[in-house]
Amino acid sequence: MRCPNHLLIELEQLRRLKARRGYRGRFAPSPTGVLHFGNLQTALLSWLQARCSDGEWYLRIDDLDTPRNRPESLLRIQSDLRWLGLHWDGPPMLQSSRRGHYSSWLSFLRRSGVLFACRCSRRDLAGKPVYPGTCRAIEAGWGWQAQRLPSWRLRVPEHNPYGSGDVVVRRADGFIAYQFATVIDELCFGITDVVRGNDLRDALPAQLSIYAALGQSCPRFWHGPLLYDSEGQKLSKRDASTGLDAARSKGEDAAHVIGQLAAGLGLVPQGSRLSAEELLMEVRDSDALPLDS
Ligand code: GLU
Repeated sequence: MRCPNHLLIELEQLRRLKARRGYRGRFAPSPTGVLHFGNLQTALLSWLQARCSDGEWYLRIDDLDTPRNRPESLLRIQSDLRWLGLHWDGPPMLQSSRRGHYSSWLSFLRRSGVLFACRCSRRDLAGKPVYPGTCRAIEAGWGWQAQRLPSWRLRVPEHNPYGSGDVVVRRADGFIAYQFATVIDELCFGITDVVRGNDLRDALPAQLSIYAALGQSCPRFWHGPLLYDSEGQKLSKRDASTGLDAARSKGEDAAHVIGQLAAGLGLVPQGSRLSAEELLMEVRDSDALPLDS
């Protein structure tokens, strides 16, 4: 089935935009709480890489999973980034304002026959890292059954090089899956480079399969180190002691926090105090950012 004209025209315009503009990066937090130092470190790395490349840097708010959203975090994310001097280009982009857009893409894929309805529960798939194809050949039906909707999966060819299995693009609770929305957004905003935490490396095969299904080339992906608490647990947005309020209550200012984050990344000596712009001057041309592709 042919891709609808308005979607094709949009992709073509974006391809041209991307060719003209050079580097376009983004930071894409979920507004599920206050940014912790691990999130801030990722934001700093992403901002530094974009600005070192004389590129643009956008803020996207991944707020599709509404039950997990904390209304106050939308403004807090912005004020924390500004306080640190990590200024983004243009207005913040809210995924919740783009639901119609994701749905257009989903309808197109569904009508093209590359999606199938999957009735497997979480329990059915426990211990199976790759989806075993259970519902692929079954006419599982798209409507309610036993009070449940199906998830929608993208049929990924057997010989696909990414090893993702069939990818969920719409969840059984009706929410658009993160990996689908993020791919559509990177394409629609002409993002050339995605910098994010190492914990999202596992999401890469699914995303690469979606780019392939759409016949689009993917951005460059970079993954930065994670931060852990003293018990070796990944920091959590639900724990306020890991955010900027805790630092500010100890009297620490933005120069202190940037110095601390940059020292943790091995970019400056411990105890350095500097602004984000000063740090940018330090690392520009140094090829020092600790990012793995
Ligand atoms: N919204 C995702 C998160 O906060 C990150 C998405 C991304 O950078 O691709 O974990």
